[in-house]
Amino acid sequence: MDKETQGDVQRGDDALSRLKALRDQLDEADQRIVSALAERMALVSHVAALKEDPHAPLRDVDREAKLLGRVSALGREAGLDGFFVAKLYQGILDHSVRTQQESLLGRDNPARSAQRRVVAAYQGTDGAYSHLAAIRHFSSRDVELTCQGYHTFAQALQAVATGQAQVAMLPIENTTAGSINDAYDLLARMDLALIGEEIQPVDHCLVTLGEVPVESLKAVFSHPQALAQCSEFLGSLPGCHVQAFTDTAMSVQKVRDEGDPTQAAIASAEAAQRYGLHILKRGIANQKANYTRFVVVAAEAVKIDPRIPAKTSLILATRHEDGALSKCLGVLAAHHLNLTKLESRPRPNTPWEYLFYMDFEGNIDDPQVQSALRALAAHTSLLKVLGSYPARTVRDARPAQPERAAIETLNDASGGPEVSPRPSGASPIEAARVPATATHDETRDAVLAMLEKKPYRLASRLGRREDSQVVIGDVVIGGERSVMIAGPCSVESREQIMTTARAAREHGADILRGGCFKPRTSPYAFQGMGFEGLEWLAEAGASVGMPVVTEVLHPADVAAVAKLADVLQIGARNMQNFALLKAVGKVDRPVMLKRGMMSSIDEWLAAAEYILSHGNQQVFLCERGIRTFETATRNTLDLSAVPVIRERSHLPIIVDPSHACGTWRWIAPMTRAALAAGAHGVMVEVHPNPGEALSDGPQALTFERFGALMKTL
Ligand code: PEP
Ligand code: MN
Repeated sequence: MDKETQGDVQRGDDALSRLKALRDQLDEADQRIVSALAERMALVSHVAALKEDPHAPLRDVDREAKLLGRVSALGREAGLDGFFVAKLYQGILDHSVRTQQESLLGRDNPARSAQRRVVAAYQGTDGAYSHLAAIRHFSSRDVELTCQGYHTFAQALQAVATGQAQVAMLPIENTTAGSINDAYDLLARMDLALIGEEIQPVDHCLVTLGEVPVESLKAVFSHPQALAQCSEFLGSLPGCHVQAFTDTAMSVQKVRDEGDPTQAAIASAEAAQRYGLHILKRGIANQKANYTRFVVVAAEAVKIDPRIPAKTSLILATRHEDGALSKCLGVLAAHHLNLTKLESRPRPNTPWEYLFYMDFEGNIDDPQVQSALRALAAHTSLLKVLGSYPARTVRDARPAQPERAAIETLNDASGGPEVSPRPSGASPIEAARVPATATHDETRDAVLAMLEKKPYRLASRLGRREDSQVVIGDVVIGGERSVMIAGPCSVESREQIMTTARAAREHGADILRGGCFKPRTSPYAFQGMGFEGLEWLAEAGASVGMPVVTEVLHPADVAAVAKLADVLQIGARNMQNFALLKAVGKVDRPVMLKRGMMSSIDEWLAAAEYILSHGNQQVFLCERGIRTFETATRNTLDLSAVPVIRERSHLPIIVDPSHACGTWRWIAPMTRAALAAGAHGVMVEVHPNPGEALSDGPQALTFERFGALMKTL
């Protein structure tokens, strides 16, 4: 060995031993993390013991929200990404809630707590979504789990009926493809009980032998449900043969076994990994939020502690009487039981009669539910209760969101006034919000008489007395909490929108904005990144768990934009583009209608009426300033529009001080003024580097300034 080679070997050995030392340290760090988690769980179980008191609430969502805000701030102090820490903690909290529920279930159901081993039956093979759902469902139960795949749903249920398995995971509906009819029909036939539900995120991947051009693919295999959920992507592969196969994981096996690089399967990332194949593309389903709901089927029903949010499922056939179904629904309404699912299926052996499947929020042990069931029996010819079980889809059962109040922000760089810290508990953004104009009866009568003459009905308070709410995922516009929408005027690059999303989220924004199609005064100005930008915006929003809003300019683009954006913005310049208003009126996506820069309040509400009258009731308004003789500001922010709109209309209203001021310096005071005037939220422009923004740079807040503003709210 010459000197040089010896030197290389020596350096190689050094690097190897440094790497080994670092890995040893990592192992130790992991050990500490796991020990800390175990210590936390032990404390949680002590807390659970104290909650044996039947009146102590199991969950305190407000406390969880505060905790998430606190750990996120702690994470940032330690140089971590606050959002990442909050996300991890959501998982930890969810696990601890499930564990507490599990301990109550164990206490109330001795046979269940005696189970040390559980066999979970499912349809499919290793790595199928049903298999993943079983693993997820049992993650918080201290049992030895064996998952057993079967060819059919019926065989999986039969395994439970004969005692070979304790539970079966039965997929019942998918958020893209809808109800799974076979599963419903089997539930009617078999004498089994529902003891749980599980929500399995379904992220379909295109799985191949290796990295190949998508265009080279000649055949794609998967379960028919998965193919249906990815129909749009498959439609974009011309000349590729699409073939239904037994299940998603088996199609991965098939591609592996046949060894043909022009074949692909659609399946979960887990299935690809399990069989050692390559993920060519992720997220190929028609809808980005794609979930399958499973019911957990067992031989015997379980008793559910009243502190656990529960659902009850039943099957009924109505009597041959006028309005029988409506009477049944009326019974649930009269008992204040919220119906979460209604499905009808042909009644076996009885042509033109139907079985109705109903899920509602409630527990069979609740006297209110029992009274409803007695009343239902009077209107039905069949009433079969499938069981009550811990709910996974109701709001109370979902993870809390970090509370904004607890989020520490960076130094106040805006030069604004010193603001004392918020008192803990109350959210000041609320304290600043005033209720809708409460007036004496006679004033109200005069207002109602005035509204009679207006060119809008559906948008009017006459049509609906209560405030409307627009629900966008976990965000409610028009609810008790004010909403913050933040982001750049234009999406400029993937990097720009990803960093902005992260900063906006960390500082407590609820919705991410970003223009992709820009209505510019000059044709030579930057016109936006179009659909490419929209893909980045959607990706950025998803990466931090925030819904996204973007402007749509053309009726022909509405459907395509609605697929990726959670809210469609109609800009000031298009407030009276009636073809566009009709087009967004026909899609099922919330719409933010900005006020035209020369429009009166009544013209604005009449424009909203165009959208409402075409079917879409999910409209909220955005005041962004109007043209006046004043030139010191870009527009004049008409804050009086807020109480006027709230008097004339039930639609929520937010304020955009950015386009009104045109300069970042006045945005903070106008934001506070908007909330004080009763706005349901605010939208501001935020940019990583306003000096280099491709549009509206002067009015954009830096991340620091946005953080400082949020701190004052
Ligand atoms: C925008 O929000 O980027 C925008 C173009 O606003 P407006 O339609 O209010 O000018
Ligand atoms: Mn703008």
